[in-house]
Amino acid sequence: MNPRIGVIALQGGVSEHLQMLLNIGCKTVSVRTPQNLHGIDGLIIPGGESTVLIKLLSRWQLISPIKELAGSGTPIWGTCAGSILLSNEITEKNHKVNQPSLELAAVRAERNSFGRQASSFQEELLIKGLDNPFPGVFIRAPLLYPLSPDAEVLCSVNEGAVFIRCGNIWLSSFHPELTNDARIHRMFIEEAVIGSKPGH
Ligand code: GLN
Repeated sequence: MNPRIGVIALQGGVSEHLQMLLNIGCKTVSVRTPQNLHGIDGLIIPGGESTVLIKLLSRWQLISPIKELAGSGTPIWGTCAGSILLSNEITEKNHKVNQPSLELAAVRAERNSFGRQASSFQEELLIKGLDNPFPGVFIRAPLLYPLSPDAEVLCSVNEGAVFIRCGNIWLSSFHPELTNDARIHRMFIEEAVIGSKPGH
């Protein structure tokens, strides 16, 4: 099976996700309109700036169609700003911020969590389901906090999570698309996309 994966292509790290998906044998769709969502088997919301991205999603009338897609069980994975947009709650310096989100995962995203350290860095990550460490690239990343047992933490650094699976919604605060390592893209495709197909 060559699944067809959409990447929200309004802002941020779009081309790197598309390339990674092509490298592992997926068909890709750059999503800019609700029509582009028809017939996709999975969706990626890339990094960028979550405050801008949510406005663009609203302007292009993508918010309700993405929520419907999630409700019908289609796997959706958000990286960095994408993970913030999928979270039910957004905070900064531990205070709730007035920033709308798609509210699709029982997770609180604490924006710009690494502000006092170097804001961009790379760290080897031990991830549930992977045998060897994964090169985690962090760029003004959030930390993720589960709000219910449905949110399964696959990797943590410091006191917060950086990779969470919440049913068909996946959130990573790092950027696997900026590495040469396709293991997380492959994991999303194999487990969330192909694994969720009826009869599999
Ligand atoms: N700090 C950004 C935000 O809050 C996320 C950064 C990123 O996606 N690399 O939206």
